[in-house]
Amino acid sequence: MATILIIEDDQRIRQSLSSRLAERGHDVDAVGTAMAGVESAVSGRFDVVVLDLGLPDLDGAEALRMIRSITEVPVVVATARDDESEIVRLLDAGADDYVVKPYSAEHLEARLRAVLRRSSAEPEQRVLTVGQIVIDLDAQDVRFEDRSLDLTAREFDLLAYLAERPGRMVSKRQILAEVWHQPYGGADKTIDVHLSWLRKKLGESAADPKYILTRRGVGVRLVDPDT
Ligand code: CA
Repeated sequence: MATILIIEDDQRIRQSLSSRLAERGHDVDAVGTAMAGVESAVSGRFDVVVLDLGLPDLDGAEALRMIRSITEVPVVVATARDDESEIVRLLDAGADDYVVKPYSAEHLEARLRAVLRRSSAEPEQRVLTVGQIVIDLDAQDVRFEDRSLDLTAREFDLLAYLAERPGRMVSKRQILAEVWHQPYGGADKTIDVHLSWLRKKLGESAADPKYILTRRGVGVRLVDPDT
């Protein structure tokens, strides 16, 4: 059960989402404008915020930036367009995840659960587990299906970065900045190459992915294939 803020101007969606999530035991507050949403979001009362991007009074990305500048509350953005450059922009602007309209309350709830799981994870946790992948950050050691995995330093950093955000789509721009410590500049082939090496070591391929799911033009996420 979570305390959820919904920022959505479409009254029909707002009411149906609110009641569906409330039926499932969540404590839900819903507002219809970006300004009311930002005001509520920064109250510190909510576990997670669902932010519609098409709001009448403020650009959704602008609202996201305002929320992000004040609070670390997880934000899931809801967008009407399955527009890759827009999604990348939002992930870069600090969105924790996104849903594309139309989406069901069940789908949204699954995303919220994943976001909440991540945000409540102990920050000092030094062993990351995603499915059969176990990463010991202190020992810089990875085990996969109970055997030790031989990774280069960069592969390790990349895998650990993804494993710290299980299920979350991260853009190549983020990876380049956080793992390679480089500004974005068309160097994403480097990331592709490292992902393909990692995939090989995890016994999968781009054609038959299990743990490493990529979406062209958007980014990559590490998932547990058994959940
Ligand atoms: Ca809208």
